[in-house]
Amino acid sequence: MSSDLILTAIVSLIVGMAIWNWWIYGRHQVRTRYPPDWDTLRREVYRRASYTCQNCGRDDRVLNAHHIVPLSAGGTNELTNLACLCRHCHKLIHVHMR
Ligand SMILES: [Zn+2]
Ligand SMILES: [Zn+2]
Repeated sequence: MSSDLILTAIVSLIVGMAIWNWWIYGRHQVRTRYPPDWDTLRREVYRRASYTCQNCGRDDRVLNAHHIVPLSAGGTNELTNLACLCRHCHKLIHVHMR
């Protein structure tokens, strides 16, 4: 094999890996990225639930906005896909999903 061929092989390997990385990680990041108005959206979710956890009903805990259908599974950032959960219940849900 000539050295030119080896060089071509290495270059195409690097380019191929870059494309592969973009395909696996780049696209994933775009899909799971939180929207620029996430803070407003999150507050609206809490307000709609009267600042109460929709799972246990407590209103004295730190609240989280939870994606009912995860973004990685094609869920959206719309209010219909968001639930207001306390941090405690939120953790429990994600343990079950693992
Ligand atoms: Zn709760
Ligand atoms: Zn969640």
